[in-house]
Amino acid sequence: MTRSWDKLKKEVSVCQQCGLYKTRTKVVFGEGGFEKKVVLIGEAPGKNEDLQGRPFVGSAGRVLDKMLGLAGLSRNDVFITNVVKCRPPHNRDPLPEEIESCFPFLRRQLFLIKPKLVITLGRFALSRFSSGLISQVHGVPKRVKWRFKNKEISFILFPVFHPAVALYRGEYHKMLVQDFKKIKRIINLTKE
Ligand code: URA
Repeated sequence: MTRSWDKLKKEVSVCQQCGLYKTRTKVVFGEGGFEKKVVLIGEAPGKNEDLQGRPFVGSAGRVLDKMLGLAGLSRNDVFITNVVKCRPPHNRDPLPEEIESCFPFLRRQLFLIKPKLVITLGRFALSRFSSGLISQVHGVPKRVKWRFKNKEISFILFPVFHPAVALYRGEYHKMLVQDFKKIKRIINLTKE
C-alpha cells in the first residue's frame, strides 16, 4: 500500500499531462496520508499552494481550518487534495481538459484511500461526482459507488461551497457553517 501510494506521488510530481506543468512551481499532491477516511477535495492550487506544494495554505485554507473545527476535525484527521494538482496561471478556473487529464490521479488516490466520506469543496470538485448543481445539493449527503477495473469503492459524498467564496460573501459563509456543522453526525453514521 505504501509502495502504491509513493509510486503515485512520484508520478504526480513529474506529471506533464497538461500544459499546467509549464507554469507550476510545485505540484500539490495533497496532504494527510492514505490512512485517512475523510477526504476533502478542492479546485486547484493557488499562489501559496503552488509555492509551498501544500493544499489550502492561503486565506481559503484559514476558512477551511475553521470549518473543520466546526465538524470536530483538524487537518490531522483528513486527507486534503484538489481535482487539479497544478496551479492554473493567475488562478483562473481549471479548464475541462485539465480536470480530465488530472482525474486518473484523483481516482487512484481515492481507490487507495477507500474513504468513508468525501467532502467536495466547490463546483469543480462536485462535477466529478455528481451532475447536481451545488446550489441545490450542498449540505445533502449521498451514497456514491465508483467502479474501476473490477474494484469498487463506496462512500458518502457531501458537497459544500468552496471556502474561498465565504471570504467575500457573507451568505455563503453562513451556508458553509451550517453544512460543516452537519458533518459530525454524518461521520458517526459512517461508523455504524
Ligand atoms: N483553493 C483550492 O481549491 N485549493 C487549494 O489548494 C487552495 C485554494
